[in-house]
Amino acid sequence: MNLTFIQQPFLAIFPCDYSYHPGQRSIPKYIACTVQPAVFPNPEFIFYNEKLAHQLALGEYQSQDLNFLAAQNLPSNIKPYSTAYAGHQFGNWAGQLGDGRAIYAGTIQLDNGKTYELQWKGAGATPFSRRGDGRAVLRSSVREFLMSEAMHHLGIPTTRALSLCKTGENVIRDILYNGNPQAEPGAVIIRTAESFLRFGHFEWFSAQNEIETLKKLLDFTIQNYFPEIEVKKENKYKEYFKIITKKTADLIVAWQRVGFVHGVMNTDNMSAIGLTIDYGPFGMLEEYNEEYTPNTTDIPGRRYAFGAQAQIAQWNLWKLANALFPLINDADFLGQELESYNDYFLQKQDEMNAHKLGFEKVDASIITLLDFWQEMMNKLQPDYTLFFSKLETWEYHTSDKDHFNPCFYKSLDENEQLIVQEFLEQYAKLLLEKNITEEQRKEKMSQTNPKFVLRNYLLFECIEELKMGNMNMFHQLFEAIQNPYHCTDETLLQKRPERHNDQPGCSTLSCSS
Ligand code: AMP
Ligand code: MG
Repeated sequence: MNLTFIQQPFLAIFPCDYSYHPGQRSIPKYIACTVQPAVFPNPEFIFYNEKLAHQLALGEYQSQDLNFLAAQNLPSNIKPYSTAYAGHQFGNWAGQLGDGRAIYAGTIQLDNGKTYELQWKGAGATPFSRRGDGRAVLRSSVREFLMSEAMHHLGIPTTRALSLCKTGENVIRDILYNGNPQAEPGAVIIRTAESFLRFGHFEWFSAQNEIETLKKLLDFTIQNYFPEIEVKKENKYKEYFKIITKKTADLIVAWQRVGFVHGVMNTDNMSAIGLTIDYGPFGMLEEYNEEYTPNTTDIPGRRYAFGAQAQIAQWNLWKLANALFPLINDADFLGQELESYNDYFLQKQDEMNAHKLGFEKVDASIITLLDFWQEMMNKLQPDYTLFFSKLETWEYHTSDKDHFNPCFYKSLDENEQLIVQEFLEQYAKLLLEKNITEEQRKEKMSQTNPKFVLRNYLLFECIEELKMGNMNMFHQLFEAIQNPYHCTDETLLQKRPERHNDQPGCSTLSCSS
């Protein structure tokens, strides 16, 4: 690997604790602490993402690079550090959180001027680990590795994953939080992003009334990641809030398009530059259900369910508005922006759904059809991805009446079949009225609807195989995620098999990772 880091912007600009003191503690006023990664006796290479490495000009992996991938025996030019952030978890102020098991390795700069941060996840405890061990298990590392790459190839803004290795250590986790702790293999991934800054970083300084550093942090964010605002100079902070509001709405619409449910949309898991960040108990929507949450901890309130993500993102933006208020000082402006989120979101959502059905634009007649479609989805709960695959290949005059059967998790009674028929008739009528050819419809649909999504049961099976030392399924999935809109690997295009219906790790997940 060719690793040339630029000077650490964080350590150069912001108040930091350089003591390398390992103790877990509160560090008011500071943004980062230097950290020594844990010593792992026997790290083992698993995977290196060559395409991403190429894009980041990091070169090929050679066996001596394993040290870097596992954060071991680091050269003296690398000054690992972790950052402090705060946040609202499940609606409550949680105070200082911070990178409990993420450690920054450094920042690289590409020829086009763009910078990318590299970060280990699972490389040991930091001052922010609270009662945690700073480790990650293979299970959660594989999930983050594959899902973040899957999101990238779906065209959704996200952090990415460069490498995966085992630490050689076992880590104890109580997966179901039911008093049955078990040893699991530990792992480290390296993830990359232009920035890992979260809403929670702003909340951290604002809550302490550290306005000088808050300002510095927002200036830094704008200067580095929002050059379009930087050149304007006027009302920079307002402009940032406007843009992040839209980016966040766009992100949730994109999640909804493919059926991604994050599972833990706490403000510390909301990216300050609009990325999908922190892959934990996420899930792809299978049977359509707006109440679906993959996270067992979330089941009582379903705060982070599929159909709640838009509202929760807005709630999180309120918290960001509060945090930035000392810099923006205009409650009317912030209130209006937050209000306008609703209209913006609904408009983007309608457009996205129209595209899913193969229409270019939205109008009143399409909205009427979308209402009917929504009602049908709620009532019949077909598999979200398969429904659109089947709709794409459906032909008004030739498709048989069992065409949609493979996408249902139950057999439909007569009434339910009539609902599908009625939807299809209205749909066909509208396509005809709008002179949309089959070719146009199919093209729009195939660009919008993934054929393949990374279902939790596939990840579960892949992880079970990996634990036995078999990489085949990992490679198969890594291949499939790179071509989600045209995947032809039929073994991966099925609805969730019944045997996985109640399997922990498939339909339900805990935060244990
Ligand atoms: P969230 O991402 O909102 O679930 O918050 C999780 C918080 O717990 C973050 O501050 C994480 O860094 C921290 N955390 C999670 N797992 C561990 C772990 N095994 N060791 C230390 N900190 C952890
Ligand atoms: Mg987190």
